Amino acid sequence: MRTCSKWLAGCALTVLPLILAAVSCTYAERAAGLWGYEGTIGPEYWALLSQEYEICRTGKAQSPIDITKAVPSRLAHPRFVYRSMLLRIRNTGHTFQIAGDTGGFMEIGTSRYDLVEFHFHRPSGHALHGRAYDMELHLVHRGKDGERVVVGVFMEGDEEDNTSIQKIWEHLPADEGEQHLVEQIMVNAEDLLPSNRAFYYYPGSLTTPPCTQGVSWYVMTHPIRVSEEQVARFSSFYRVNKRPVQERNGRVIQSSLE
Ligand SMILES: [Zn+2]
Repeated sequence: MRTCSKWLAGCALTVLPLILAAVSCTYAERAAGLWGYEGTIGPEYWALLSQEYEICRTGKAQSPIDITKAVPSRLAHPRFVYRSMLLRIRNTGHTFQIAGDTGGFMEIGTSRYDLVEFHFHRPSGHALHGRAYDMELHLVHRGKDGERVVVGVFMEGDEEDNTSIQKIWEHLPADEGEQHLVEQIMVNAEDLLPSNRAFYYYPGSLTTPPCTQGVSWYVMTHPIRVSEEQVARFSSFYRVNKRPVQERNGRVIQSSLE
């Protein structure tokens, strides 16, 4: 598959004569929509891997971005109404994802957005004034009409273990596609939020294919702390699983008044 991707990228860059075998090979990969973070299935090639991923290249409101020059604004603060839930964790091949359908919701004004899942990136996808953090947590929510709201939380490597992260890290499934339902372990997404709830808001997209736009991003201003060892543990599975920062294209970033 790797060779197919290489061929596809090579073809996109230089006009090579078509070879029938290579065409069918490429077709198989395009149909599968395989993507990754490095090499010829990495972010710069996502739009070439499937027609469904076209917006990754053409979209004008893509995520993540570098958060700078935010405009202080009187924004409604999200209210987090998360619940403890049994830990159900899956190794997706791109990250570790925790199912959130029994984990509560967030409210913005009178609108409610149910927690769907949360997952991790290393290093952070968003940057804050040009600086990336060691990791980033994404809490993905859906409204009743399918609206997407994602909360981003920077994770900074420090000395002490984060006990809430540790509960999850002790059950990371080693194999792709593998899911663990951990009967005894309860997790609550609220434990993964910083105590200071200041945030940035901007309109963006999913940071993975198909890069769908119309996502409301709430990126928390303050990071949570994890240990360097916890960052290293995640890195032993996924060394780099983040998309580079995207063009801002005139979008306004708002910052909450604390
Ligand atoms: Zn994400």
